[in-house]
Amino acid sequence: MQQPFVSLDDIQAAAARIAGEILRTPMAQSAALGDRAGVPVYLKLEHQQVTGSFKLRGASNAILSLTSAQRALGVVAASTGNHGRALAHAAKSQGAVATICMSRLVPDNKVSEIRRLGAQVLIGGNSQDEAQEEVDRLAADKGVIMVPPFDHPAVIAGQGTLGLEIMDQVPELVTVLVPLSGGGLASGVAAAVKGLRPGTRVIGLTIERGAAMKASLDAGHPVQVEELPSLADSLGGGIGLQNTLTFAMCRDLLDDVIVVTEEEIAAGIRHAYAAEREILEGAGAVGIAALLSGKVRSSGAIAVILSGRNIDMGLHRRIINGASALPAEEAA
Ligand SMILES: *Cc1c(COP(=O)(O)O)cnc(C)c1O
Repeated sequence: MQQPFVSLDDIQAAAARIAGEILRTPMAQSAALGDRAGVPVYLKLEHQQVTGSFKLRGASNAILSLTSAQRALGVVAASTGNHGRALAHAAKSQGAVATICMSRLVPDNKVSEIRRLGAQVLIGGNSQDEAQEEVDRLAADKGVIMVPPFDHPAVIAGQGTLGLEIMDQVPELVTVLVPLSGGGLASGVAAAVKGLRPGTRVIGLTIERGAAMKASLDAGHPVQVEELPSLADSLGGGIGLQNTLTFAMCRDLLDDVIVVTEEEIAAGIRHAYAAEREILEGAGAVGIAALLSGKVRSSGAIAVILSGRNIDMGLHRRIINGASALPAEEAA
């Protein structure tokens, strides 16, 4: 019988496996956010991770969990964002070939960034779905190993190592705030945190525009939602109607899901820059956004995961200069 959940043991094994591949990122107390929340607030600076997001943890664990024969076949995924970067980097580091499939609509700078990290880029089709069909074909015809961005036990266990570090760095935590999209990060972190201390609250943070996991949790089963542009572009995308792990883990392990608006995300990015001296992408700023807007209640210390920093610097500058939400060219 298939084990439905990723366990604390799996996450501890992942931590040992990837220790040489990832940074143990710092935890910084935020005086400004602590004043605001009335309890101590700690920022997990995971946007400083190699490749600019936590996704390297899951990608590294997935590749290091393969047999050498499997590794020799190479890995493949369709992500053009943080998962694609992480998989490219992790594969190169293990001497494996990563193929990242992309649609023709993906901008040149994203293509060259993934190539720079050492991956082969396969361009085909006119949508993300068609890029995914290319992934399925490579896996079926050539046996290339698919490493999906969240719904995969080794990926979830890798992301969960962040939860182990947080509990080690601030043992007296009451609440952990986790950005939530496909739910690999939230599932892994919640499994680690609650495995170590079951009373700790874990809260997912999501966007108004196209929050597939929230809609699915509300419906009681995976559903599709319309996707709209968001400042937190790393939080877009569905959870898969055939979701096998992250839906059930988020349903059973998360204490709450909080939705933040585009304005609140912009304010989160601004606060991170002006008060904490950190550059964050939208998805990395949702925890700060929720704290600033007063949507989080906690009787004691809060940890906030700053999950990534891969934002277009022109967009970042416009937000810092006061652009409220998505400028026209991003919203188009
Ligand atoms: C992927 C990603 C998330 C969301 O992670 P899921 O596992 O899909 O929920 C959050 N922040 C950043 C920066 C990401 O790249």
